[in-house]
Amino acid sequence: MVYSKEQHSKDVVEKYDAVVIGAGFSGLYMLYRLREAGLSTKVYDSAAGVGGVWYWNRYPGARCDSESIYYNYTFSEELYKEWNWSSRYPEQPEILRYLNFVADKFDLRRDIQFNTRVNSAKYDEELNQWFIKTDDGRTVSAQYFITGIGCISTANLPNIKGLDNFEGEWYHTGHWPHEKVDFSGKRIGIIGTGSSGIQSIPVIAKEAAHLTVFQRTPQFSVPAQNHPYDSEYLRKTKENFHDLKRQMRESMAGVSMYYRDRSVLDDASEERRKVLEDAWEKGGWAILFAYNDLVTNEESNELVANFVRSKISEIVKDPETARKLTPTHYYATKRAIIDTDYFETYNRENVSLVDVKESPIQEITAKGIRTADDEYELDTIVFATGFDGMTGSFFKMDIRGRDGVSLKEKWANGAETRTYLGLTTAGFPNMFMITGPESPSVLGNMPVAIEQHVEWIMNCIEHLRENDIKFIEAKTEAEDLWSKQCRELADQTLYTKTASWYTGANIEGKPGGFQIYVGGYGPYRKICDEVAEKGYEGFLLIPS
Ligand code: NAP
Repeated sequence: MVYSKEQHSKDVVEKYDAVVIGAGFSGLYMLYRLREAGLSTKVYDSAAGVGGVWYWNRYPGARCDSESIYYNYTFSEELYKEWNWSSRYPEQPEILRYLNFVADKFDLRRDIQFNTRVNSAKYDEELNQWFIKTDDGRTVSAQYFITGIGCISTANLPNIKGLDNFEGEWYHTGHWPHEKVDFSGKRIGIIGTGSSGIQSIPVIAKEAAHLTVFQRTPQFSVPAQNHPYDSEYLRKTKENFHDLKRQMRESMAGVSMYYRDRSVLDDASEERRKVLEDAWEKGGWAILFAYNDLVTNEESNELVANFVRSKISEIVKDPETARKLTPTHYYATKRAIIDTDYFETYNRENVSLVDVKESPIQEITAKGIRTADDEYELDTIVFATGFDGMTGSFFKMDIRGRDGVSLKEKWANGAETRTYLGLTTAGFPNMFMITGPESPSVLGNMPVAIEQHVEWIMNCIEHLRENDIKFIEAKTEAEDLWSKQCRELADQTLYTKTASWYTGANIEGKPGGFQIYVGGYGPYRKICDEVAEKGYEGFLLIPS
């Protein structure tokens, strides 16, 4: 729908240069940069505070899987040096404190409207404005419309029969309440063993009377080897700020770590075992970087997968439980998870495992969960069932570009997601997506991906303003080519051979498709920079 001029003056309460959705890592930095460049900006977030995913994911044990020295902004040296992380992998409250600290330091809150959801955003060609409607009944307009909505923020609550009948309490890890959930003395059931499940299971198990884990697909996980940071380590890291920042930005995954220039197949079995044992002891992402062909060579992947499988059977005492916990898919093609005492938790007396592939969940009853073979009485059910990733949050809004075309229709509900560089999409002028589909985003350390996008978008907007350009829009040929390149690159890896949320397979009825650029953060940055240097190659730039 195109707004008429009358509607425009009737409905629109405020006019901005830019509207940004989301007050997480993306939205906060975007606001900072837009304000610094002198653009009037409004940010909306449905949460009551800043933080994005870190506002909502408050489940027990929630923490980041990037090391904290990397998992923060590097745009401000002063900020980097002011903040002290307590440990290698701090918990969610500390990350949320950091984001609040950033919001306070740069006085960002005055341009953010919390508790407000954006329902629709429509581009009016004649006025060259985006009209953004929020759930408080207001409409604002802006020349630039920017999404900072994250890649995994729309919770997936599976459609299991009978949840309404359940007499106990239930929670989703991605929408956890602010007050502490008390598990003590209770029978808890948790559905899902992805990152969220694997982080929360050991913590809930310590408190609950009994924890039953309902597992659909067993997961690979390696120890985080989390530990407190000492002040000397932090001092040295901060001293090294400029090198660290450069390394993170040039690297493949946004961290100062490099793939060893060696195939898994280059090492004889004894040497390989030693390398992998060392990596296991180092913890975190060390195994991922131990070799360079983990996600591209089936044989290499299988050797590393077998190493992790052997660890599971060493740790888990009951052979039948160990069997059920042993994954069969390619290692690291679902998110490579890191944990604290995950497999060890299955040795506890008060923890049991139900394989719901062997015995599917049939319904949720008033008293608990009924599978094909048994009924489990529960006081509380925790859904650690993940997110409708990449496109889910876009489709919750009615986003319409030129000629009233909806993004959901253009992307055929996800089956035909097409972007140019994961930043823009044809038919949606002056709309930018921070870490949109077909950018590297979730295949690395997100703040680095976010900073790169924000800086690219800001440079682009400044270019438009300096050159009196009314709008920028991706050309269809450029986005077709980019999407094709993304798919071809992904097809050279094992990612596309595993059902995961990366491929949309976790959402019933969601069309499949791997919508992430797998070529690495550093190479991707170069591509984006070159596009800009060549006068925004692949874009239409229309003068005022
Ligand atoms: P996820 O990886 O998608 O895991 C969801 C789990 O729920 C899977 O085990 C899935 O089984 C299961 N499941 C979904 N629907 C089900 C159903 N109907 N019946 C039974 N089981 C069902 O979600 P997540 O654990 O929330 O993690 C999502 C992503 O968020 C991660 O990959 C990561 O990128 C990010 N994250 C990061 C951190 C961190 O930094 N440490 C923490 C949490 C999340 P299947 O595998 O069979 O689909």
